[in-house]
Amino acid sequence: MNYSVEDLQSQFQRLRMTETSKELPTFLRKAESNSWTYQEFPRELLTYEERRREEKMIERHLKMAKFPYQKTLEEFDLKEQPSISERQLRQLRELSWLEESFNLIFLGPPGVGKTHIAIGLGLEAILKGYRVLFISMGELIPLLKTEEYLRKSQLQMKKIRDADLVIIDDLMYMAMDQNEANLFFHLVNHLYERSSIILTSNKGPEEWGELLGDQGITTAILDRLLHRSEVLHLDGDSHRIKHRQTLF
Ligand code: ADP
Ligand code: MG
Repeated sequence: MNYSVEDLQSQFQRLRMTETSKELPTFLRKAESNSWTYQEFPRELLTYEERRREEKMIERHLKMAKFPYQKTLEEFDLKEQPSISERQLRQLRELSWLEESFNLIFLGPPGVGKTHIAIGLGLEAILKGYRVLFISMGELIPLLKTEEYLRKSQLQMKKIRDADLVIIDDLMYMAMDQNEANLFFHLVNHLYERSSIILTSNKGPEEWGELLGDQGITTAILDRLLHRSEVLHLDGDSHRIKHRQTLF
């Protein structure tokens, strides 16, 4: 029987090996010119397919994460932020907190790098295959409130609930009413022990009570957030102001 390259390509496609299917002619040429052995040939194909799948997964996860900007931990200048040590950052990078579903809480005034570190860690997590979602508290509340009747909110909330790491940025910058605090509690309760949360806030947990209103809910939320967590305080002057660009 005589198979054409196209036949082989569609067979690979039916097996969902789309990447191999596309590159098959190139691989056939390489196999010939490099005299690949029977073992080398399938190995080359499979390695390629695996690598491309991983790359595509990372691309998908990066898109899904919805980072407001992409900055890596390498771009974070520790000299500018002495309240976090090189060793601490290295430990955070290893992501054992994520494996163990620990939460991280970054506290400090505006511009000290809370969001930058959160995004940097989120990027690391994506490169290791985790699903990450970034959302600001200001976006999260309307999402929770419209989840019941808006399909778009339902889909986004599902992604949040299924993520391995949820970054909630700028927690408690505004007061919540009873209903909002309740919805937030249910989310935290769902994520608790199932995934990790990174929170950033310019207010300490002792002040969160005032903003959440209800004492009972505040205690319940704090309980879950803080139970397995690492709290890191960043301070100093705002990086934005120090590196302010001026027109004149
Ligand atoms: P916030 O603490 O308010 O979340 P950001 O993390 O958004 O602050 O930081 C504000 C800006 O300053 C960002 O562009 C961030 O990349 C930059 N930045 C802050 N701290 C550092 C740092 N130590 N090294 C490099 N860039 C920094
Ligand atoms: Mg921020």
